[in-house]
Amino acid sequence: MTDSLLLQVAVDTPVRGLFDYRLKSEQHEQQTGALIGSRVLVPFGHRELIGVIIRELEDDDDVAVDKLRDIIQVLDSTPLLDSHCIQLLLWSAGYYQYAVGAAVFTALPPALRKNKAAEISQTRLWSAEAAGDSSALNRAPKQREVFDWLSEHVSGVSDDALRQQFGPISSCLKSLEKRGLIVARSSDALTTQASNKQPSTALERPKLTQEQAQAYEQIAATLNSFAVHLLEGVTGSGKTEVYFALIEQLLNAPADADDVDNPAQILIIVPEIGLTPQLLRRLKHRFQIPIATLHSNISEQQRQDTWLRVGLGRYQIILGTRLSVFTPIANLALIIIDEEHDHSLKQQEGFLYHARDVAIYRARMLQIPIVLGSATPSLESTLNAKQGRYKHLLMRKRAQETPLPRMHLVDMRALPAREILSPTLRQAMHRHLEAGNQVILFLNRRGFAPALICHDCAWVAQCSRCDAKLTFHSKSAKLYCHHCDHRRSKPEQCPECQSNNLLLVGFGTQRIEQLLTDEFKQYSAIRFDRDAIKRKGQLEQILEDIQEQRHSIIIGTQILSKGHDFPRVSLVGVLDIDYGIFSADYRALEHSAQLLTQVAGRSGRRQEQGEVVIQSHAPDHPLLQSLIAKGYPDFAEQALALRQSCNLPPYSYQMLLRARATYADHAQQFLERAKQLAQTQLTSDLAIMGPLPSSMEKRAGKYRAVLLFSANNRRSLSIGTADWLQQLHRLPEARRVQWNLDIDPLEGI
Ligand code: ADP
Ligand code: ZN
Ligand code: ZN
Repeated sequence: MTDSLLLQVAVDTPVRGLFDYRLKSEQHEQQTGALIGSRVLVPFGHRELIGVIIRELEDDDDVAVDKLRDIIQVLDSTPLLDSHCIQLLLWSAGYYQYAVGAAVFTALPPALRKNKAAEISQTRLWSAEAAGDSSALNRAPKQREVFDWLSEHVSGVSDDALRQQFGPISSCLKSLEKRGLIVARSSDALTTQASNKQPSTALERPKLTQEQAQAYEQIAATLNSFAVHLLEGVTGSGKTEVYFALIEQLLNAPADADDVDNPAQILIIVPEIGLTPQLLRRLKHRFQIPIATLHSNISEQQRQDTWLRVGLGRYQIILGTRLSVFTPIANLALIIIDEEHDHSLKQQEGFLYHARDVAIYRARMLQIPIVLGSATPSLESTLNAKQGRYKHLLMRKRAQETPLPRMHLVDMRALPAREILSPTLRQAMHRHLEAGNQVILFLNRRGFAPALICHDCAWVAQCSRCDAKLTFHSKSAKLYCHHCDHRRSKPEQCPECQSNNLLLVGFGTQRIEQLLTDEFKQYSAIRFDRDAIKRKGQLEQILEDIQEQRHSIIIGTQILSKGHDFPRVSLVGVLDIDYGIFSADYRALEHSAQLLTQVAGRSGRRQEQGEVVIQSHAPDHPLLQSLIAKGYPDFAEQALALRQSCNLPPYSYQMLLRARATYADHAQQFLERAKQLAQTQLTSDLAIMGPLPSSMEKRAGKYRAVLLFSANNRRSLSIGTADWLQQLHRLPEARRVQWNLDIDPLEGI
């Protein structure tokens, strides 16, 4: 008995807390320390589940040892999660009030959530021999093509990738190998050292502007300690160059004598890798070393391989989406969060963590710096900077000296109601197009028309599963719900009164596309929204087409705001920005200001000053005025004052209990009970609002309601909350609803 270990294991269940097990001495050879972070197979109820060993039971923990069940098997010979990661996960699960086991399993790549060996698959990577004489290839065009391709891809290319590019290729590779022009190595040997190129050459590196150099120096001065830097730089100010200078500094730093195998690693977290292929390309181009990419849009095997390699310290640069924040990284030295204001950094289902905030905790734990970059920082971060918790680094000028675009507001109230493009905007379009430049028309609404109504009886085409109108899409000639996957054909007659007088009301990107075919028919237009980039490769194609000026007019949604660099765009037309001004959600205004600034920032990024025309029905709105006249920092200042006067976040702290159910009553009853319990179990410092129906009450066939808690200090949210949640799990009312608790919610009610 004394030889058995007593261990606490995280198991993937919504039940909170860790579970105690016994591990018999004959089942393991390792020291206890070497078991922590390894996966195990454990009996759980009548099932066998995978778990991860989190810690040893303390002697004074009160457990009935003889009641403990035995671990069936230890699955890993080396731990998957290091102690830092475990600490990070325990903290995050605590902060976000989520079951530890479920949090731990969110952090693992999907392949490792199963009983599958944690092995790195061995693939061959081909690369060109730089010194090889390829003149003999002039009469072997296919070999020439492959050789040239490999010469451009210095980090090596797998057989799979080559086959995708060139078709059947093995004999061609064999010949090239025989000629000594290419070599294969196992991808597991892939280390940063494997690439014998220097990280970068002085030639390709722009000289930092004064503002960039200042920002760089301030951050570089903290490289061995914890500091949060809010790098607020206008669009085009060259934030990426500041990141690059820091990365370069770390890559070139002489490794500690006893740490040569542990070069510094840098984690860059971006909202969506898929939408911004540019950053990856720039990183590859600049540093010429293998870059790990971690996101959910790659195969399970590949994700597992990359994840494991990063944990072994094999990559120095790691580019990932929010989920990468939990990845074990052997020697993390710097974290960069790009576009820190972007809501996709927060997970919206399951484990509702915010990658920025988790990353800040991680940086503090490791005593390393973290950089939050944005042209339009969140009000949370802005306040943290104002209050001195973050260092505020401002870059007000564009790197290439081009002034920021000129902004005009067009009062749409003065125009006929049906006018979509104001005369001001149309004239500006002609002017810029005739000069050979590109024009962006921004409208955050996909499809052709957001409503189909009956002219005779006012019937509106509604989604049967949501409280929402259906949007007509002209390409498929169908009605779509943008909130669930419901779609149906467009009726010829009104289902209520059989009238044939059905009207499409309002406009989306597709209608703009059609509208242009008259007045602007000599200019090629392209639509850039989620419908246009559904298939793999379409996004890259569109970006390339825009770069190569194959189109003059780009009509797009918020995808356009995602940091793309379109050098020839000189005019941005914002067709409708009123949503944020008239929305009930208090965050909508901030979001609109960010969108507007980011989209406007696509204009005039080279040589000449760009122009932005904003159409609005509320041109007098003081915050819109201040944004346009003085820029985002002034807007943020005023928006913060407004939040403070209403005691809204970031001046107060919120959590949201959400419930959805097939019947509206069930959601209400559950929240009612939850509220009663909260009134006795949680602190009286919490103000409770609700239960309230959500602003879109019915969605995808479920009725949704919320209970909103707010407090003047963060601690009040956590006092007694864990026990209260345990009680909610046991409520009979809970069985009829799906519910979760969202800490620091971003989505409104
Ligand atoms: P941001 O991320 O702040 O919008 P980028 O880093 O994309 O800005 O830089 C905008 C443009 O300016 C890019 O084309 C970049 O190559 C260029 N650039 C950045 N820094 C410099 C510099 N110091 N000198 C010249 N050009 C620069
Ligand atoms: Zn009708
Ligand atoms: Zn729907």
